[in-house]
Parts: sequence; structure tokens; C-alpha cells
Amino acid sequence: MGKKTDKKSGKSVKKSDLPTKICACCKREMVWRKKWEKNWDNVIYCSDACRERRYKPN
Ligand SMILES: [Zn+2]
Repeated sequence: MGKKTDKKSGKSVKKSDLPTKICACCKREMVWRKKWEKNWDNVIYCSDACRERRYKPN
């Protein structure tokens, strides 16, 4: 309980093993999320707020 284990390697999976990238808007590091697994390559903003800020420059 509590400890996630990779079934193939048997190694414990740490949160820091997840891929990360830098948000094109706020430049903060964002960590891979499950909802992005299908389009991770296309994700450039960390949140809807950042995406909207980029689309509507003021
Ligand atoms: Zn952002």
C-alpha cells in the first residue's frame, strides 16, 4: 500500500521519473499528467489559463 511498483522492472516508480517540460507561457516546469498521455508531444502550456493568455495577448 502506498508504494507504486513497475511491473516489468520491479523498480519502484518515483514521481520524479515522469517526463517534464517547460510551459511556453509561464516558463514553469510541468510534470506529465495522465490526461496528457495521448498528446504529450503537443502539450506546450501547463494549464488552460496559460493557453488562453497566449491566445489573447493584451
Ligand atoms: Zn503555464
